[in-house]
Amino acid sequence: MKPITKLINLQTLASGDILQLKTYHFKGKTGTKKVYLQSNLHGGEIVGNAVIYELIKFFSQLNEDTLHGEIFLVPMCNPTAVNQRNLFFSTGRFSPYDGLNWNRIFWDYSHEKVNINKFVKDNLNLTKEEIQQNFLNQILIKFNNKLKSINQNRGVSFSEHYRNILHSLSLDANYIIDLHSSSVKAIDYIYCFDSRQKNADYFLFDYGILMNKFDGNAFDEAFLNPWLILEKKFIQQGRNITFDVESWTLELGSGMTVNQASVNKGIKGIINYLSAKKMLNLDVIIPQKTTQFVNKNNLKHYYAPQGGIIRHRLSQGTKVTYDEILYQLLSFPKNGDLPIIMEIKSVDEGIIYDVSINDTVNQGEYILGIFPHV
Ligand SMILES: [Zn+2]
Repeated sequence: MKPITKLINLQTLASGDILQLKTYHFKGKTGTKKVYLQSNLHGGEIVGNAVIYELIKFFSQLNEDTLHGEIFLVPMCNPTAVNQRNLFFSTGRFSPYDGLNWNRIFWDYSHEKVNINKFVKDNLNLTKEEIQQNFLNQILIKFNNKLKSINQNRGVSFSEHYRNILHSLSLDANYIIDLHSSSVKAIDYIYCFDSRQKNADYFLFDYGILMNKFDGNAFDEAFLNPWLILEKKFIQQGRNITFDVESWTLELGSGMTVNQASVNKGIKGIINYLSAKKMLNLDVIIPQKTTQFVNKNNLKHYYAPQGGIIRHRLSQGTKVTYDEILYQLLSFPKNGDLPIIMEIKSVDEGIIYDVSINDTVNQGEYILGIFPHV
């Protein structure tokens, strides 16, 4: 099976060059479901590109009978961020145009003035599949009307133009998988929304963060939020429906590097998830243990109590107990005779899930995060 590839013009530049996206599209002989995968939305988070490369190779070897539905892959989905540098460092977390986090710019249908209560009333006695199709149609009509209402003379900001392109590729998907990594050094983990935890297990990750409070306009959340709201409205009317719509963000290790173990974890998890979703006619690995979730607001973050040089910091993946020394902070105070070493101890028990890259810090800079035992 060969993918259909397409080039999409993303931005014409002052120099006359054009930034483009390349998409890879696999379509099975049967099936109607669609999964959308993208990588490198944040410029320094490059691991997902290697995962998509391996997936393209893998899907290319399959025959059309093995795939039910369609798979849409967009590596390097944010060229502006991918190419951005400070010296040799990839930054690319924030748009240089408006300072917005690239992953907080997305459009959420439920933020429009839409009467979801009326939709529920009108669709209450239909089948789950009919309701899902009707709601998707409403989302697409609203989105397309927004596109049509863009005045060509006034134009739109690049953030809005960019998000519209990604939405136009992904809004009609059943599942979206957004491949990130930490911007610093981190273990692998998955972001999951409430009510979808059971399916997260098929990605075979040890750790996950449960999004119980939304950050606002992230790609995964803007996609799924309208559906979660719809499900809650149906429950209020006495119908318990879970639509076949899910969104996932995989955090595959550290930024600015491609850790092969993280790549392998991503590939294995995605193939297993798609098999469990019956989009791939392959054996499903039944998870031997469930993903351990922590609510996002229960993560423990450590910031530098004063400026200095970090020494002997424990690395990501280390299990820590109370009172264990997490790192030392060396400082050269202007008053007093000698340099000072300060020991910073853990006030939590759990696993260190990420650590900052720079070993020199000003007061208040991020040092590390702990995923507490639950
Ligand atoms: Zn990211």
